[in-house]
Amino acid sequence: MSGVILVLSGPSGCGKSSLTNEVLAKNDDIYFSISTTTREIREGEQEGVNYHYISKEQFQKEIEEGMFLEWAEVHGNYYGTSIRPIEQALQEGKLVIFDIDVQGHEIVKKRYASIMTSLFITTPDEEVLKTRLVNRATDSLEVIEKRLINAKSEMARICEYDFLLINNDFAETLEKFEAVLKVARLKQSCQDREQFCTGW
Ligand code: 5GP
Repeated sequence: MSGVILVLSGPSGCGKSSLTNEVLAKNDDIYFSISTTTREIREGEQEGVNYHYISKEQFQKEIEEGMFLEWAEVHGNYYGTSIRPIEQALQEGKLVIFDIDVQGHEIVKKRYASIMTSLFITTPDEEVLKTRLVNRATDSLEVIEKRLINAKSEMARICEYDFLLINNDFAETLEKFEAVLKVARLKQSCQDREQFCTGW
């Protein structure tokens, strides 16, 4: 059987990375899609682990060379998903997790609808998000304000997702996240279904 996709979206600071790191440590059938970005590396982040960090010029070149499955401008920086490692992981039958914004979700859905599940994660309210971003202390107040405005416009599109998780209690959210992963693994491509049908 070929692999499946879980698209994860939600405002920065809602807990997507912590949840993903937890499940990555426990499941070797999961491949996390490492995006390429032009934003500056944050303290605690590592090249090739969180992102591939490149210049705007290099990013532009990779767009022209058709390297990206999708790309978008978020908070004034570019973020993109490279096609090749994704196709490889899907061929290996992996569950591929994308942490991408609402624009990326729309594009991936068009291409991979039959094998894709989508999940939007957010905080109980805007105040909680602001507090988390301030406590994380990785962004200036100006950047935090930008992220909050962006969060509001992303929240307006939560109905486009299969599931919504409100991350209030981490352990509880993790349990629900694992349930979504189980469901995501049950998707099959039309090709796999047709093959099954032929053999049946
Ligand atoms: P951050 O700067 O907090 O790591 O990410 C900012 C936003 O960019 C998040 O909403 C994240 O989901 C989104 N993002 C990260 N990588 C990609 C990508 O490859 N494509 C798209 N469309 N969005 C991305």
